[in-house]
Amino acid sequence: MSRAYDAVVIGAGPNGLVAANHLIDAGWSVLVLEAQPEVGGAVRSAEDVQPGFVHDTFSAFYPLAEGSPTIRSFHLEDHGLTWEHAPAVFGHPTKDGQWAMLHRDRDLTARQMDEQHPGDGDAWLELCGQWDRIGDHMVGALLSPFPPVKHGIGALAKLRSVGGLDFVRSMLTPAAELGRVRFGGRSPRLIIAGNAAHADIPLHAPGSGLMGLLLVMLGQTVGFPVPQGGAGELTKALARRFQSLGGEIQCSSEVTRIEVAGRRAVAVRTRDGERFGATRAVLANVAAPHLYGGLVSEADLPASTTKAMRSFELDPGTVKVDWAVDGGVPWASPPPAAPGTFHIADSVEQMTEALTQVSNHSIPAAPFMLAGQMTTTDPTRSPPGTEALWAYTHVPQAAVGDAGDGSIRGVWDRDDCERFADRMQARIEELAPGFGSRVLARRVLGPREMEERDANLIGGSINGGTAQLHQELIFRPVPGLGRAETPVRGLYLASASAHPGGGVHGACGMNAARAAIAHTRVRELTPAALRR
Ligand SMILES: Cc1cc2nc3c(=O)[nH]c(=O)nc-3n(C[C@H](O)[C@H](O)[C@H](O)COP(=O)(O)OP(=O)(O)OC[C@H]3O[C@@H](n4cnc5c(N)ncnc54)[C@H](O)[C@@H]3O)c2cc1C
Repeated sequence: MSRAYDAVVIGAGPNGLVAANHLIDAGWSVLVLEAQPEVGGAVRSAEDVQPGFVHDTFSAFYPLAEGSPTIRSFHLEDHGLTWEHAPAVFGHPTKDGQWAMLHRDRDLTARQMDEQHPGDGDAWLELCGQWDRIGDHMVGALLSPFPPVKHGIGALAKLRSVGGLDFVRSMLTPAAELGRVRFGGRSPRLIIAGNAAHADIPLHAPGSGLMGLLLVMLGQTVGFPVPQGGAGELTKALARRFQSLGGEIQCSSEVTRIEVAGRRAVAVRTRDGERFGATRAVLANVAAPHLYGGLVSEADLPASTTKAMRSFELDPGTVKVDWAVDGGVPWASPPPAAPGTFHIADSVEQMTEALTQVSNHSIPAAPFMLAGQMTTTDPTRSPPGTEALWAYTHVPQAAVGDAGDGSIRGVWDRDDCERFADRMQARIEELAPGFGSRVLARRVLGPREMEERDANLIGGSINGGTAQLHQELIFRPVPGLGRAETPVRGLYLASASAHPGGGVHGACGMNAARAAIAHTRVRELTPAALRR
């Protein structure tokens, strides 16, 4: 006996849960099937590093969620979500004792930049002013299905007011150069390039500057908020909202097959042998390589899709280290205000070198690190006077060598992971001598551990596929499939493998849900005899 729903959503990551919420709002009956024992995907947290410390298992800061009209529209505050902010949004310490800082108060950010390099303060405020005029349209355009007609027109209408083609040129300038073009000092360069490096677009390639500006300006306007109590509180709030409206979630239920009949997705089957019918749609919050030729057999796909998927490119792997720290990070030169996020690289040049090593399949000698002081941001995360800290960095999917001392083989067994974590920890120690002696517990998640905890993180890839231009927009996940629709009728791609890609903004899920609703309306208005 199989149960049937209007829609089955495969995967309870943020995109799956956003899709499920939108469908239930439209009055559909919806079942979410999640492979892991709990919801959340890469937005989860647990006390599994040290008792009394809540560590985010994967993602931690959510400017894209706070800036996303989709997620805001769900009013998750009514479902238990409380956002917390660190005293400062972001900091980048350098060995000479200086900090590049981003504060939510733009005047404060500008004042500190100006102290380091006169003139940069005004240049920063000018950039913020331009963003005030065009930023909402740019975020809207990035998060809409491609082509983004409404927000594209909105952005065009504002273009003159922000400097016309000069502004377009700025947006197309690679991140490594953008800071140099618009500013004289080091801080804005470090801030823009470091934030651009959250995606895997090379810092010398067009697109990286836009990515850097997007995150930095979100940091400047909405901050880098975190859910009080742990990252998982965000996805739990999405799940609570969905269930309060009658939605069903079944965890520990891995979907292994999508049944296709007459070129339409009609049901899913789980590893335990359960079958769930989907009378209107199946939405797959699943990484594209697992969907095409995996859950949907090649026999049910056009040869062109199978062929195109052979050139699908993952983004790099990731190694993440979590520390429980007694007494906080002992910065040799403390920041002017405690930042939630911080980056570690001696300079933009060194950042670029580390990222180039990764794209050349070498394990970086001096990894560029993204890090978070979670108790600084949300005091509920660990006892007073301690810090729940993490840092992650990227490593090649298939390493051919180690640009460091040659000790890491790139097989990412325990030995590789711990050695590499030592390399990362040494970078913090350089800026905060004595850090190691304060560590109460350390946990290292390598690419394998990530994938075990969330099948979408293939080889530790965090963005559902490279964010480089050749796999974005109409090319995501592969050319010809640039929307949530798939070659199988009634089946929609609702994961970060779809446009606009990684990050917790919910747009991939929302785009898939909207497409499913729109197609269903047309189908149900069509006389049964003419339906396909
Ligand atoms: C280490 C790390 C740090 C990050 N930091 C940030 C950050 O600070 N801010 C930010 O905005 N983004 C960050 N990201 C990226 C962000 O977390 C992801 O882009 C986002 O979670 C993607 O959402 P998703 O719903 O598409 O997929 P996921 O969050 O990966 O969820 C997919 C879900 O589907 C389930 N699933 C997959 N296959 C099946 C199946 N066959 N059957 C049933 N269930 C299945 C999985 O178990 C999982 O629960 C980070 C990611 C990682 C890994």
